[in-house]
Amino acid sequence: MSVLDEKLQDVYDELLRRNPGEREFHQAAHEVLDSLGPVIAKHPQYVDAAIIPRLCEPERQIIFRVPWVDDRGDVQINRGFRVEFNSALGPYKGGLRFHPSVNLGIVKFLGFEQIFKNSLTGLPIGGGKGGSDFDPKGRSDHEIMRFCQSFMTELYRHIGEYTDVPAGDIGVGGREIGYLFGQYKRITNRYESGVLTGKGLTWGGSQVRTEATGYGTVFFVDEILKTRGESLDGKTAVVSGSGNVAIYAIEKLQRLGAVVVACSDSTGYVHDEKGIDLDLLKEIKEGRRARISAYAEERAGADYVEGRSIWNVPCDIALPCATQNELNGTDATALVRNGCSVVAEGANMPCTPEAVRRFSEAGIAFAPGKAANAGGVATSALEMQQNASRDSWSFDYTERRLADIMRKIHDRCLATADEYGQPGNYLAGANIAGFTQVADAMLALGV
Ligand code: GLU
Repeated sequence: MSVLDEKLQDVYDELLRRNPGEREFHQAAHEVLDSLGPVIAKHPQYVDAAIIPRLCEPERQIIFRVPWVDDRGDVQINRGFRVEFNSALGPYKGGLRFHPSVNLGIVKFLGFEQIFKNSLTGLPIGGGKGGSDFDPKGRSDHEIMRFCQSFMTELYRHIGEYTDVPAGDIGVGGREIGYLFGQYKRITNRYESGVLTGKGLTWGGSQVRTEATGYGTVFFVDEILKTRGESLDGKTAVVSGSGNVAIYAIEKLQRLGAVVVACSDSTGYVHDEKGIDLDLLKEIKEGRRARISAYAEERAGADYVEGRSIWNVPCDIALPCATQNELNGTDATALVRNGCSVVAEGANMPCTPEAVRRFSEAGIAFAPGKAANAGGVATSALEMQQNASRDSWSFDYTERRLADIMRKIHDRCLATADEYGQPGNYLAGANIAGFTQVADAMLALGV
């Protein structure tokens, strides 16, 4: 890891002391602090008001027991989390992740990232995140419902459209949001649409929300290419993952003329030189909820590969859309060697610090998740707007709003990077632009 400015190092040391063992949170915090040296040099008021140490401490952290009964009649216990990190810009906003790897450190890293991401959208949303170590894999629909109901039986008292607005993340999609919303409504006797986002289209959801994270990431890549006078047409892309983000990133890449030659799940990846057959992929992953190996069995000319990294597949554009730290230094070296020129994070923090360093040394455009994947939460904020005005917008109009937001985020990252003497550095631009807006709000609101 790089050496921080002295004052920032003190903040980081204190964060390590207070949050022992929370590796991912340390990593996310270090990455932001690493960009802030020139900011505190220019704006000493942020140091005087202790803005950075205040930002590093969540406003509230909730941990709770989630008991539920499985299909065999046995009682199961999971742990639930909601970290309400920062509300300077609006109600806490961020997804819920259901995955066995979830612990307080993971939720804090995600919540911390969310503060800056949400700020970059330019919309009035603070940062938060939650989830559970519940593993939805292999669970029946009834088990998922009972788990969601139990989770909400505790969570409901902490959330609200003006307080904290959860949504989905890994393991939480439209089905889970439905069960969560149903339980919130049952307990509170309030049809409070704006309390959750990612709702179904017939009960308060927004057009484009399902597609937004993937589409937005591709819009961001398109903006990067435009600055070089290039387009996606004819480019080769590799997209890791095959969940909601990956599927809609692939869809938009293909519509804009790129050829997506590989995608993956937690078991392995498929390589398909002709270009991924998206209908088949959707049917396997969304319809059957099956493993990606089924794709290669059913598609002539496609290979299934296990035990090797997807990042060895040559491409012009790489979109890591699976999970944190899925792309390491060795993977980055392979991408550079094979001529990749743009990497954009559809997932949250999928690239390790070593990978990011290699991209920067090689002059590859690197778009960090807090900028590139902000389209998901931005469209959640558009869903909140529609709920507040009891309105619903068309697909085309909502997609135009999303494209416009992504273009603005892109331009703001570049302009900020320029202003702080690091032209073309999207990571520095995103961290600094995201930070200064929250910091100014915190200054204005007092201690
Ligand atoms: N989980 C998504 C993210 O990482 C979306 C959160 C939301 O829509 O609130 O940004």
